[in-house]
Amino acid sequence: MSGVSFENVVKKFGEVGVIHGVDLTIEHGEFCVFVGPSGCGKSTLLRMVAGLETTTSGAIRIGQRDVTGLDPSERGVAMVFQTYALYPHMTVAENMGFGLKMTGHPKAEIESKVAAAAKILKLEQLLARKPKALSGGQRQRVAIGRAIVRGPEVFLFDEPLSNLDAELRVEMRVEIARLHREIGATMIYVTHDQVEAMTLADKIVVLRAGRIEQAGKPLDLYNDPDNRFVAGFIGSPA
Ligand code: ADP
Ligand code: MG
Repeated sequence: MSGVSFENVVKKFGEVGVIHGVDLTIEHGEFCVFVGPSGCGKSTLLRMVAGLETTTSGAIRIGQRDVTGLDPSERGVAMVFQTYALYPHMTVAENMGFGLKMTGHPKAEIESKVAAAAKILKLEQLLARKPKALSGGQRQRVAIGRAIVRGPEVFLFDEPLSNLDAELRVEMRVEIARLHREIGATMIYVTHDQVEAMTLADKIVVLRAGRIEQAGKPLDLYNDPDNRFVAGFIGSPA
């Protein structure tokens, strides 16, 4: 079981506090969406789960494990970014398998995992291509495929669709929902898009200036926001 919990997590950059004591439990298999204004600390929270930022105080658990001091590679998480940063000189298959190759996995195992991820993402026909020969949506699929191949317990998505045009965003949103159903892993997903939040989330967390303003099921927040700030983010006319 690999839910994620934040226990009184504080983050300061130098003297500046940006996360002010976040307590949050995300259940195993839950799709949790973080929303909130630019600069409220969404990426910092994800990066602390991934181990790309240290926590100033408090703890982060994945399942029963306290991962607070662990290296990124020891945490069992994979992160998908807004900019997908594929290696231009590698094929799709090589991009997807690169993480496993670096950690010394056998070629046959890498190939079978890449093939399985390619099937989920409908990339089977594109495995020999280089990134420049892909559309934006296809590139983002490869970035997601790279995460799947690593077999993480927890997926972290930081505004993964915000560089795509509206039509592709809808298509990829459906793909990500299907991925969650098929894999059943715990996912934490940052977005500015209310429709993405409402349709993908089991739980929405509304953040404001480094604190949780409200967390709950999408419809509960929509129908019964605690305040106008939350209402503004979830789109209810309260
Ligand atoms: P969001 O993803 O919600 O837009 P971030 O988590 O990126 O917000 O940033 C939260 C706050 O932390 C912002 O004020 C930002 O300027 C600050 N911040 C983020 N990363 C750093 C850093 N490496 N050094 C200093 N300040 C940072
Ligand atoms: Mg961010």
